[in-house]
Amino acid sequence: MKKDRQPPFKEPSCSFCGRTSNEVTSFVSGPEVFICDICVYNAADILRQGALSNTKTSKKGPKTLPKPSEIKLHLDEYVIGQDSAKRVLSVAVYNHYKRIQAGDLLGSLADVDIEKSNILLAGPTGTGKTLLAQTLARVLDVPFAIADATTITEAGYVGDDVESVLVSLLQNADYDVERAERGIIYIDEIDKISRRSESSSITRDVSGKGVQQALLKILEGTMASIPPKGGRKHPEQSLVYLNTKNILFICGGAFDGIEKIVARRLNSKTIGFHSNAQKSVQESYELLRHLEPEDLIHYGFIPELTGRLPIIAPLAPLTDQAMLDILTNPKNALVKQYQKLFQMEGAELMFQREALLAIVAKAQKRKTGARGLRAIMEEVMLPVMYELPDKTNVRKCVVTKNAVDLGAEPVFEYSAEHAPARHSSKKIADSQ
Ligand code: ADP
Repeated sequence: MKKDRQPPFKEPSCSFCGRTSNEVTSFVSGPEVFICDICVYNAADILRQGALSNTKTSKKGPKTLPKPSEIKLHLDEYVIGQDSAKRVLSVAVYNHYKRIQAGDLLGSLADVDIEKSNILLAGPTGTGKTLLAQTLARVLDVPFAIADATTITEAGYVGDDVESVLVSLLQNADYDVERAERGIIYIDEIDKISRRSESSSITRDVSGKGVQQALLKILEGTMASIPPKGGRKHPEQSLVYLNTKNILFICGGAFDGIEKIVARRLNSKTIGFHSNAQKSVQESYELLRHLEPEDLIHYGFIPELTGRLPIIAPLAPLTDQAMLDILTNPKNALVKQYQKLFQMEGAELMFQREALLAIVAKAQKRKTGARGLRAIMEEVMLPVMYELPDKTNVRKCVVTKNAVDLGAEPVFEYSAEHAPARHSSKKIADSQ
């Protein structure tokens, strides 16, 4: 019926380039207009180029470089304690990007070549090393990648695996090479590639020296060729060239036992066997504060690598108070996250102070720093989170010490009109 009312059929052609349907794969149509797939691709390319040139100012590292005191303030929002490490990092990072800016400004005329200062974070596991590096990158708005030194299996030259560290950075920089070249890479478990490390992988040379040398190259600055999608290089693949000269490397490790090397150098008699575990942890930290490159060499690092990590920042073990603060204070604190989830279900979540202290006590026993907090919190909250969406009438949930220590059900309070009979909460009024 409608057929004869329609205008005579006209073969669609691209309103931009005029190609007809047998010349293209597909059309996107609008009111009386068409655009072919080829023009869509070209248009996307033009937009991408435009976007890149608009971000040119940010390619030189952070858009505006915050002062060290400002960087520290930002770190304070997410990381509890670790004041001295924060100060060291803030200054080092500030100098790093100042150095890049100066290099850009002076070019080859620069008479003083300010050397890159990569950073070593040494301290117990779960005390905030990764978090510090991650937060720094966020504050500065530069691309960031995390690598694990133990997965690097290279044995003596810059190989694919060391370069895989750079692949993640490039990916996180949306394949913008120039931006990636001003990024931050955190290399975790750097202590595990020392010669004395017992956990040396059997897949690489026993000394770990090869891995150290491979790392050394990218740490000091090299033009690395990387397969943009990761994996092993092969001849037909197009490679991306990334200069690592201005990438800031932050390496972290627990360095178990290094305090004994420091003590020996200092001729200190303070290290010993303690019945009081907390005291010995504090003493280890005191010694760590005196950590010097020569101790790292004794620990099993090649001198060249320690030379490329001139800034050492020790991290303190977390006290009970710090752990408590971690649970409640940072912008994305665990307690706040769970409270938000409850809020989305229309309920209020509260933790008794004794419950939080019990979580801290349990976490301290695990000796995994603040990492234990999340695991324990999840154990406590999982059954509650499982049931909560079914309990549509919950007004409030209070997590008690017994819920943490004995797995007891938290105390639920229900809104007066809809409370179910099976719960012995204070405000029960079965409306069914
Ligand atoms: P590591 O020192 O082993 O790198 P991470 O930084 O990965 O430890 O911390 C593990 C977890 O504990 C993260 O979820 C982090 O949020 C939390 N955490 C550790 N230390 C702190 C801290 N000082 N302040 C806030 N959260 C912390």
